[in-house]
Amino acid sequence: MTQISTQTITGTITGTTALPDRVRTLVVGAGFAGLGTAIKLQDHGFPDFLVLDKGHSVGGTWRDNTYPGAACDVHSQLYSFSFAPNPDWSRSFSPQPEIQAYLERTAVESGVLDRFRFGVTVQDITWDEDANFWLVDTDRGSVVADVVITGSGGLSEPKLPEITGLESFEGEVFHSARWNHDYDLTGKRVAVIGTGASSIQIVPEVARQVSHLDVYQRTAPWVMPRKDREYKRFEKLGFRFLPFFQRAYRTGIYWGRECFVPGFVVNPKLAAPARRLALKNIERGISDPGLREAVTPDYQIGCKRILISNDYYPALEAEHVDLVTDGIAEITPAGIVAEDGTTREVDVIVVATGFHTTEQPIAQHIKGRNGRTMADAWGEEGMTAYKGTTIAGFPNLFQIVGPNTGLGHSSMVFIIESQIAYILSALQKMGEREIVSLEPSPEVQHAWNEDLQHRMQRTVWNSGGCASWYLDSHGRNTTLWPRTTFKFRALLSEFDLDQYVVAARQDAPATTTPDTEENAA
Ligand code: NAP
Repeated sequence: MTQISTQTITGTITGTTALPDRVRTLVVGAGFAGLGTAIKLQDHGFPDFLVLDKGHSVGGTWRDNTYPGAACDVHSQLYSFSFAPNPDWSRSFSPQPEIQAYLERTAVESGVLDRFRFGVTVQDITWDEDANFWLVDTDRGSVVADVVITGSGGLSEPKLPEITGLESFEGEVFHSARWNHDYDLTGKRVAVIGTGASSIQIVPEVARQVSHLDVYQRTAPWVMPRKDREYKRFEKLGFRFLPFFQRAYRTGIYWGRECFVPGFVVNPKLAAPARRLALKNIERGISDPGLREAVTPDYQIGCKRILISNDYYPALEAEHVDLVTDGIAEITPAGIVAEDGTTREVDVIVVATGFHTTEQPIAQHIKGRNGRTMADAWGEEGMTAYKGTTIAGFPNLFQIVGPNTGLGHSSMVFIIESQIAYILSALQKMGEREIVSLEPSPEVQHAWNEDLQHRMQRTVWNSGGCASWYLDSHGRNTTLWPRTTFKFRALLSEFDLDQYVVAARQDAPATTTPDTEENAA
């Protein structure tokens, strides 16, 4: 196994690693999306690319989320690139350090890191109408790119709660995605705000260290048992020496997860067995009837992300842990005041309140045709794209994990790989036909989203009786994919140029795209 050189992974732009003036393709973000794109660009003969990331390494969300207990709730075998299987997973659900190590190793072994620049913050991405290129401004200079691919992630910008007085708190405060490892929690009084996927992993770990823990629950999550275990020796040997064994394992998990789709998108009643398992999990983990009632959700399972844990409920029942369900009225310099007036003093507040999902901060910094920002384009309708990847008014721009590409049941890596294949197919067609700009027509994008929103109506996410980060401020689900993942892959298997407004170089061979003014030009 290749040893990872710290130098290679953490190299920032000094000396010979300065930013080039111009590249064919610029990729923003070096998580699963950016890294996978880079590897595939290289493999498919598009070596002229640059990947920028503000962090110090590859990994994206897995680099940033280092909180105690961080682990994936999708099976390890499925939560990896299909083209870079990992025989070294130690367990069925991988802990964060293993995923981060996997991504770093994959980056080194694929030989693409010379085109990565870390410690570079992208500030503005502006389309030049006349020259047909993107000007990418960063805190380390500017780069011109014909094509921009954003892989900056749907869950990358931490969201702080709007709670009066948070800034006045005199103790330590940090977000779950920005854990302060220099601060020792041992013996401290701690509050965790939020009971989502991050919180339920943090709570059992933190409860072991602290003198007192208050867990602030606004809405109870549905929590299923976590069927996590160490891989047996024969399994590990199989993964290493019998590639078909690992592929079969992965395929089995994939189809197992896909069976959950009807319960989310066709009829929530199909999720009744999952509901029973989750209720049993409460019974098994908690004996106190009052606490059982407090953690029992009052909406349909699947409406919010279904969580998995074996130790969250037992942690809540510990003597020194309190579940607070009265709501937060305000935060004072010394602690948190609940809506019933009770003040609980603490040394530390851990804010596990999630991410900006339906208003992506990067959208304010991408300026397409006529200088219009993506945030403005999305202002009224909310986030929309065509096939979750391309956006009218933003030529030659591809978003990985764009609108309506998220999943409630399976691995995002599958979606990411589907989008990468679609983008590669686009780049190939652009090259063959000397296309200088392409973007979906507004009508095509509109029709795609009408269909999506129509399908959304009957999903548990829209009708399950809860509020969640899946829905935007208009109540539209602009984050999740409401069909099977194999349908998504099939729809993106080849770039459908005929749905795009295309401009080719004037002396280029004719294209088959619709007769628009721009094509005629
Ligand atoms: P989240 O699921 O959005 O949960 C945020 C929590 O904070 C919710 O319980 C929310 O309550 C609460 N909250 C938000 N604002 C609040 C306020 N003002 N006062 C009180 N409570 C407030 O965020 P997350 O846990 O970081 O997870 C986000 C996503 O990341 C997950 O859904 C998942 O997709 C991914 N993730 C995955 C893993 C994994 O694979 N194991 C781990 C972590 C995260 P309400 O429910 O009432 O809004």
